Amino acid sequence: MNIEGVLKSYDLDMLTITTLASHSALQIVHGAKLEGFRTALVTLRSRSWFYKQFSNLIDHFIVVDSWSDLCNNSTVSKLRELNSVMIPHGSYVEYVGLECAEKIPIPLFGSRYLFAIEADQHKKMEFLTRAGIPTPRIYSLKDKIDRPVIVKLPGAKGGRGYFIARSSDEIVERLQEYLSAGIIESFDEVIIQEYLIGVTAYYHYFYSPILERVEILGADIRYESDIDGLKRLPPNIAIEIGIEPTFTVVGNIPLVLRESLLPKILEYGIRFVTTAKTYVKSGIVGPFSLESIIDRDLNIKVFEFSGRIVAGTNLYLNGSPYSHLYWNEPMSTGRRIAREIRIAIEKNAIEKVLT
Ligand code: AMP
Repeated sequence: MNIEGVLKSYDLDMLTITTLASHSALQIVHGAKLEGFRTALVTLRSRSWFYKQFSNLIDHFIVVDSWSDLCNNSTVSKLRELNSVMIPHGSYVEYVGLECAEKIPIPLFGSRYLFAIEADQHKKMEFLTRAGIPTPRIYSLKDKIDRPVIVKLPGAKGGRGYFIARSSDEIVERLQEYLSAGIIESFDEVIIQEYLIGVTAYYHYFYSPILERVEILGADIRYESDIDGLKRLPPNIAIEIGIEPTFTVVGNIPLVLRESLLPKILEYGIRFVTTAKTYVKSGIVGPFSLESIIDRDLNIKVFEFSGRIVAGTNLYLNGSPYSHLYWNEPMSTGRRIAREIRIAIEKNAIEKVLT
């Protein structure tokens, strides 16, 4: 795949910021428009009516019958005609599959080489450990499980199918069911993590290779069913009914952090970027997120990361209390992406932000 060659054929004054119609697409096209770019959405036929409500923000619709059509020759040539730059968001790999996500012959904003690490829960945790970022303990099925653990399925399943367990037997029994149902192909695909007690906090960062700095653009809390819904039941009733908590994300709640926590949070972001430079080809570019639990002693442990824009950034279409400090104007993550591309073009350094 020769992305440099594709870029040479592009008119950089006529780039089209493109993404898949889901996740944070509206924020991305909104930000792109504010920065003066043309925009395109690749959308499933069934969803196009909804996105057409926002045709003030979307110049071109590329309608497909299935997400896997993204890598078809006809879609790729339409994208190239538009001088498209694809913005991979949190659902991108989940929708189009790892192979198409990595190999699509269209310039991507950010690194396409991080996707394979993100697809593997074990590699992800290894990456965080290398970066010196505190993480929860990881168990294997052979270990003695001495505390509650959370068992996670691969990919960005939005917390679906996760369960909390207290013993290896319980885990094996459940995973056998998942195997028989074809939900997983092997036990190695899941990760067993210590279940951390504390509050959840998800940080939105942006690494600019052009300005050579890491920015904190915001933070959020996920609103998850039923783990958050269970708080609405008196505990004795919840126990009586025996509801098992699930972690399906249904939305995001804004979060402003104690200012004294910010240096540590930024430090972890910087460690993440520094490690990515040595560990992943092209390092990390643009938005990424660390997902954490903060305990009663204000220790932060990171249980997951995303190397792309996360949906919690949708809260801050008009900027966040943090993005304002850097930019003093309404700066969403979507707009920040477009701004980075714009500055890169002005500085003749587009290859620093696209792969
Ligand atoms: P994830 O798919 O890793 O983002 O996890 C989905 C949800 O599960 C998170 O938003 C948390 O509510 C919860 N969760 C994940 N990992 C842990 C952990 N190690 N300890 C406690 N809760 C967790």
